[in-house]
Amino acid sequence: MAMLETRRTDGSGGGRTANSLRHSNLATIFGMVHRAGALSRAELTRRTGLNRSTMGECLSDLADLGLVVEARPETGSGRGRPSPIIRPYPGTVAVTVNPEVDAIRIGLVAMGGRIIEQVRLETDGPADASEVVRRSADVVDRMLDGQPYVVAGLAVAVPGQVRLSDGHVRDAPHFGWVEEPLAADLERVTGLPTSAANAALLGMYGECAFGSGRGVDDLVYMIGGASGIGGGVLSGGALVTGSAGYAGELGHLFVRSDGAKCPCGAHGCLEAEVTQPGLLDAVGLAPAQVERLEAELLRAEDPAVHELVDHDRDLLAIAVRSVVNLFNPSVVVLGGFLSTLHRVRAAPLLSEQAIRASRECVEVRDAELGADQLTVGTAELAFSSLLADPASAQLISRASA
Ligand SMILES: [Zn+2]
Repeated sequence: MAMLETRRTDGSGGGRTANSLRHSNLATIFGMVHRAGALSRAELTRRTGLNRSTMGECLSDLADLGLVVEARPETGSGRGRPSPIIRPYPGTVAVTVNPEVDAIRIGLVAMGGRIIEQVRLETDGPADASEVVRRSADVVDRMLDGQPYVVAGLAVAVPGQVRLSDGHVRDAPHFGWVEEPLAADLERVTGLPTSAANAALLGMYGECAFGSGRGVDDLVYMIGGASGIGGGVLSGGALVTGSAGYAGELGHLFVRSDGAKCPCGAHGCLEAEVTQPGLLDAVGLAPAQVERLEAELLRAEDPAVHELVDHDRDLLAIAVRSVVNLFNPSVVVLGGFLSTLHRVRAAPLLSEQAIRASRECVEVRDAELGADQLTVGTAELAFSSLLADPASAQLISRASA
């Protein structure tokens, strides 16, 4: 294990930011730069409404903390001095771990949602938690040791129920994990501050920061993949977590009274009735050919395929109706094969049975980030403490390892 150096970034250039207003301004500015990737100083001033001298002090603090870099724009706008461009420091990174049923995916992601590197380790079926910890830690060492990165943290995306307070996995049925202290184990082995959350929730983080949920405060996100359907809810800009973090199990919305048995033990759940393997089978595709699903569904002439698409879409529409009635979102984002089901028919997905007032102000969108969604969203969790309070976050460097 490499030696770790921790750098406590507790003030402006070694001094102390005394007031919470300053901390809050730094968080606002840094968050905007992170989500945009790059913004001019003039645009930041306009968006925040801060005066120019306060903006100058805040940017100077963020630069002293090593979090942003300022560059002269290449061309001026014609009149006056061109406004400098602010970007996140390119060496501030998060590490992501995404266990899948046949692999472990490990990512290194810079601020701004820029993926630097991704590694996919094949596994012999679903890995047990100790294998995920051991093999991920080896890759993390190789990615970070001796590199000029400043690490905000590590985050794990788990397809299952995860207690948000400590990243403890309660249940991950596709892996057979029950009561696994996954975040604590990874933190002990890697020395990086580690958090974990439900994978669908983290996909939503990604879409909200960089995809089709950007700037939306009231949003329901639903994603379908090989192992089921998950989701998350953002209400008034805040994540609906429930008392411990298990809210948003949208795959277990009840959609059919005589429905199939679900792995959760209930009958008629959305994810028991509407499945990616079912659609792939219908058009003769293997699990690894999922990227061809939409084209094959559009091309299919077999009436049985059309019946299945209608069946799946009808039940998805019942689920969407329920979340629209429950949460009155302005946007419903569909990802994975749910987005495919949305796109393969021209008819609107949102049924007229949703309450009219809520129905009128909601838009159904497809997720934008595609395959990178989960890695980018998982990195958002690892960056969350830094983004919430850039002046107090603890960053780790292994440059001298
Ligand atoms: Zn269920």
